[in-house]
Amino acid sequence: MNDAKKTVRKIRVEKTERIVLPKARIQYCDGCRGESIFISVEQATLNFGISFREIFRLVERKIIHFHENSQGLMFVCAASIAGLPKESAIIRKDI
Ligand SMILES: [Zn+2]
Repeated sequence: MNDAKKTVRKIRVEKTERIVLPKARIQYCDGCRGESIFISVEQATLNFGISFREIFRLVERKIIHFHENSQGLMFVCAASIAGLPKESAIIRKDI
């Protein structure tokens, strides 16, 4: 007889990812009709993997929401970028 007991160990691994957006700000977004996080174009390229060119094209087409501060710097709505499908025809068409 085999007296060995089978022991099943369950290991649960949790991963927390933290993105630091030093110049991010929460503001009302007309496109989202609510508060959204606005980030610089540089931060958007780094965090979302979209090129500067794509961002500006999508801003021109009003797909990515944006606003300019009093110094003329442009900030983009992170929610509008996050909502873009990665393989969308919108992005591929413009490349
Ligand atoms: Zn928005």
